[in-house]
Amino acid sequence: MTGSNLDWTIVRYSVFSLARQALAGHAGWPEAWRKPEPKRRYDVVIIGGGGHGLATAYYLAKLHGITNVAVLERGWIGGGNTGRNTTIVRSNYFLKDNAFFYEHALKLWEGLSLDLNFNVMFSQRGNIILTHDFGGAEGATMRYNALRLNGIDGEFLTREEVRRRVPDLDFSPTARFPVFGAMNQPRSGVARHDAVAWGFARAADRRGVDIIENCEVTGFDIANGQVTGVRTSRGEIGAGKVGIAVAGHSGTVAAMAGLRLPIETHLLQAMVSEPVKPFLDTVVISPGLHLYVSQTDKGEVLMGGALDGYNSYSQRGTWPAIEDVVSASVALLPRLRGLKLMRTWGGVMDMTMDGAPIISKTPIQHLYLNGGWCYGGFKATPGSGWVFASTIANDAPHPLNEGFSLDRFRSGRTLTERGVGNLPHHH
Ligand SMILES: Cc1cc2nc3c(=O)[nH]c(=O)nc-3n(C[C@H](O)[C@H](O)[C@H](O)COP(=O)(O)OP(=O)(O)OC[C@H]3O[C@@H](n4cnc5c(N)ncnc54)[C@H](O)[C@@H]3O)c2cc1C
Repeated sequence: MTGSNLDWTIVRYSVFSLARQALAGHAGWPEAWRKPEPKRRYDVVIIGGGGHGLATAYYLAKLHGITNVAVLERGWIGGGNTGRNTTIVRSNYFLKDNAFFYEHALKLWEGLSLDLNFNVMFSQRGNIILTHDFGGAEGATMRYNALRLNGIDGEFLTREEVRRRVPDLDFSPTARFPVFGAMNQPRSGVARHDAVAWGFARAADRRGVDIIENCEVTGFDIANGQVTGVRTSRGEIGAGKVGIAVAGHSGTVAAMAGLRLPIETHLLQAMVSEPVKPFLDTVVISPGLHLYVSQTDKGEVLMGGALDGYNSYSQRGTWPAIEDVVSASVALLPRLRGLKLMRTWGGVMDMTMDGAPIISKTPIQHLYLNGGWCYGGFKATPGSGWVFASTIANDAPHPLNEGFSLDRFRSGRTLTERGVGNLPHHH
């Protein structure tokens, strides 16, 4: 049988089985995860069914043998930032705490589809961070040197090398933003965001974790400085330990336990054009313009920019931010000029003051916090769940998240990457 015959056999089989399922009302499709009623008590309750909460539950069960776990999600799995981001995954950080943590996450990404037995479509297509002037190039060189010293992959591209890789950038003498060079991390890339949530949810469920959607946490039970359970829209649930992983809602949920966090919530938008034939096989980032552009597997041009610039819990943004992103995209890639913008959306971002996350114990015993992801939480998802599970299971941080403590803002040991030329905490 030739290759093409074999492919047709598979296609015919799939089409017929799909048609059969449709006629049967999809009755034969197994559910991806159960829809259990909440139990009265769990060993660990995780608040937030985004990528981080689900990954935490999965690694608690898989690596620490703790399976009496619930993930409580007030909406639906992946309805938050997990399903709203521009899916850039990279580990090209400068400071050691960030670099080793994100590199650990990237290594997990490289084996994630296999581990979860679910295709998260991780595509290592690189991540071309443009520099438009000499100063930017100096900053990029510094970062490149740091990457190499830390054993993380990276390459510096000259203007000509960038032209070969992304010929559609504006290289004309009148370019509004001339391309000076770029830094690339070849192992970085993009993934299918919803699949990450679904894959972790299914794999956690298979190990006994209860995933409870439409269940909002409205308060904590705390006795003698120790958390003993949560109050929810579906009743009280007792808990040995509680982990908060609610991203943009970190401030409001922590406030229910009496904690005031060094986190502000802001709004970030992203947008896609109508789909076109493949022309961009990498991610292009301009830190100077605060812009990131890639092409989805469907063919849409996916674009993102900077925060809208005001604090908000709303998931919709303003026109000026959209205009900024679109005009910068067209200036960099002039052939986008004729495309129609198809969809825009917003997410709520948990911004810390130094741009690094908090994965930490809190002053309340057995209450743990995972938040403050700023622009960069999607890439962290497996790594974040991995170290948060370890922190909860051992009641102590793992060496990879020791630096991401809550009290660093009090002690002044903050982790800001500013001043190295390419706005590292973005996207
Ligand atoms: C437009 C945009 C673009 C981005 N681009 C990138 C990128 O390219 N690369 C990157 O690495 N990161 C990016 N990010 C950031 C990334 O998406 C987030 O940092 C990350 O997804 C946050 O973690 P999470 O997935 O667990 O959050 P979420 O998916 O938001 O999960 C938190 C969950 O908590 C739930 N919740 C809140 N309050 C309660 C409550 N009281 N009770 C129960 N549940 C509650 C919410 O409903 C939500 O589902 C982007 C974000 C946005 C908005």
